[in-house]
Amino acid sequence: MRDERKSKVCNGTCPICNSTRIKLLYPRAKTNGTVVTVCKKCSKADQNKLDAV
Ligand SMILES: [Zn+2]
Repeated sequence: MRDERKSKVCNGTCPICNSTRIKLLYPRAKTNGTVVTVCKKCSKADQNKLDAV
């Protein structure tokens, strides 16, 4: 078995609330087009909070 599936569920860090070991990350696009991956809670955060990252 290969480890290719690991990239889908990984322990990430949320740049907004700085939570670590997040299993599920949600992609959010900044106003400038940069995509950041945030936790479930911050996936509903305001756009200006996202842009401040
Ligand atoms: Zn977060």
